[in-house]
Amino acid sequence: MENVIIIGSGPAGLTAAIYAARANLKPILIAGMERGGQVTLTNDLENYPGFPDGLGGFEMYQLFEKQAQKFGTEVVYDVVTEVDLTGEVKTVKTSDKEYQSKVVIIATGSTPKKLDVPGEKEFTGKGVSYCATCDGFFFTDKHVAVIGGGNSAIDEGLFLTRFAKKVSIIHRRDQLRADAILRDRALNHEKIELIWDTVVEEIKGKESVSELVLKNVKTNETSTFPIDGIFIFIGHYPNVDLFDGQIDLESDTNTIKTNHRTHTNQTGVFACGDVQDSIYRQAITAAGSGCQAAMEAEKYVAELEGKVYPAKK
Ligand code: NAP
Repeated sequence: MENVIIIGSGPAGLTAAIYAARANLKPILIAGMERGGQVTLTNDLENYPGFPDGLGGFEMYQLFEKQAQKFGTEVVYDVVTEVDLTGEVKTVKTSDKEYQSKVVIIATGSTPKKLDVPGEKEFTGKGVSYCATCDGFFFTDKHVAVIGGGNSAIDEGLFLTRFAKKVSIIHRRDQLRADAILRDRALNHEKIELIWDTVVEEIKGKESVSELVLKNVKTNETSTFPIDGIFIFIGHYPNVDLFDGQIDLESDTNTIKTNHRTHTNQTGVFACGDVQDSIYRQAITAAGSGCQAAMEAEKYVAELEGKVYPAKK
């Protein structure tokens, strides 16, 4: 019987592992398919405190993992295929092993929805980005496109005006889904242009993105559109499929429902990072909630074992 199994190897999962390991819980962290999570999509992380010269996303993942292992986390490079989180003893199956654990910490993150057009994968990190906070600075005085018409697209488009000389928001309909206040700000911003009824058919470039092939969905006309970068905000999928029917989700965002202390509806199951956060989605906030989840796990295991904390004086 394990004390703690952590599912996911992004900043949330690995921070939970560091804290759980330092609490002598000997956690097992199952890294999953996309080791390091979304942060590894970022070339240069300049807003994580403590790294004034920036840090590559993948490098950050390696440092987090090294720190977690240093204190005794066992990192398993496998994928969780099935879980049973309903009883006091939790079962977690990977492709070649079955674990029993007192606690499960869910840190499976979320996956940005992709356009699924030619060039998108090839130029990810080379002009294609899913994070304005991470990459906006690199487009100072450049012309960027933002894809989407929801709150994220408009919010991030407005954020990008701090750097870019022009932001073209390209939306597939002729109405924005975003809240009125954001909509008005975008429509009245001198650096923002709205391109309606238009989808991206292809992303082109050499070393990095230089042009988009666009199609007007009403006229079916295609055109080329010179651009320095493209930010795609067409929604996220919280990675929750594994927990279907066992863990309660928020009805509007599909993120895992937790209380303010990372507790899910199942006793002994905690959730942290992007899988339970539809608002901030930053490495630092994910790490913070990973810390909370591990501290809650420690408390829960101590309670299970009948240990009583000495009263605070
Ligand atoms: P969202 O509300 O689902 O919006 C996604 C947008 O992308 C929609 O405009 C959609 O177009 C478009 N889209 C989807 N698939 C597309 C495709 N294949 N090609 C082109 N466009 C596509 O997602 P979100 O903006 O990430 O927001 C997620 C949640 O977080 C929402 O509840 C939102 O309110 C919340 N949020 C809030 C704030 C804030 O309050 N400041 C900021 C960010 C996010 P259609 O409109 O045609 O469907």
